[in-house]
Amino acid sequence: SALLEADAVSFRYDPGTPLLEGWSAAFHPGEVVAVTGPSGRGKSTLLYLLGLMLKPREGRVLLDGREVQGLSDRARAGLRAEVFGFVFQDAALDATRTVMDNIVETALYRGDDRRDATRRADELMHRFGVGLRRGAKPGQVSGGQAQRIALCRALLGQPRVLLADEPTGNLDPDSADLVVDAFHDHAARGGTAVIVTHDPALVARCHRRIPL
Ligand code: ADP
Ligand code: ADP
Repeated sequence: SALLEADAVSFRYDPGTPLLEGWSAAFHPGEVVAVTGPSGRGKSTLLYLLGLMLKPREGRVLLDGREVQGLSDRARAGLRAEVFGFVFQDAALDATRTVMDNIVETALYRGDDRRDATRRADELMHRFGVGLRRGAKPGQVSGGQAQRIALCRALLGQPRVLLADEPTGNLDPDSADLVVDAFHDHAARGGTAVIVTHDPALVARCHRRIPL
C-alpha cells in the first residue's frame, strides 16, 4: 500500500491562480519518482503539500493511509522531522552556524546522540565529496556543495520519504550520479523518493515520471 498519497488535492496561493486542481498520486515504498513539468506549474508547491508544509485547499494528503491534514501544527512538525527528508534548492541552511552544525541539527532535535550524529554526518559528507567543508559557513560553499550538504542533512535523519527539488541542478555528472545512487539506496531500504527535476539523466534513472 502507499506510503504517501495525494488525494484530489487543490491549492491556490492568496492571491494566485489555482494549482494542482484535483490532483492525485500515490507513492509506494521502494519507488524513486520524478515529477516534471513547465516552470510555474506547481511542482515545488506539490513538494510543500506532500511534506506537510502547506495544507491543500481541497483534498487530502495521507501518510500510511492516514490523513494528516487534521493534525495539530505540532504533530505535523513532528512528522516532518521524523518521516521526511527535504532536499530543497534554498537549502535553508543557517548562515551563522557551520555546515556540520547545520547537518546534525535535525538529528539532534530528534534526540540523537551528538557524537553518533557527527560520525554519521562525516561519513555522508565524505561520500558526497563535501567532507572538507564541515567547518565552513554556508555562505562559503558553492551551490553544488550546498545541494549535497542539504542531502547529507536529509539522509542523516534516515527519513522514510525524501522530497527533492532539482537536487542535481548545480552538479557535475559524477556528483549527480552519486546523488541519484543515494535516492536508489534510500528506495531499496523501503523508502520513497519524490524528485522534482528537469534533468533528463535523472528522469531516466527514476522508476517512473509524473508530468505536472
Ligand atoms: P514550479 O515549481 O512548477 O515552477 P511553483 O510551485 O514554484 O511552480 O509555483 C507555482 C505558482 O505559484 C507560480 O506561479 C508561482 O509564482 C506561484 N507561487 C509560488 N510561491 C508563491 C507564494 N508564496 N505566494 C504566491 N504565489 C506563489
Ligand atoms: P494530535 O492530537 O497531537 O494532533 P493525533 O492524536 O492525531 O495528534 O496523533 C497521535 C500521534 O500519532 C501523533 O504523535 C502524531 O504525530 C502521530 N500520527 C498521526 N498521524 C500519523 C501518520 N499518518 N503517520 C504517522 N504518525 C502519525
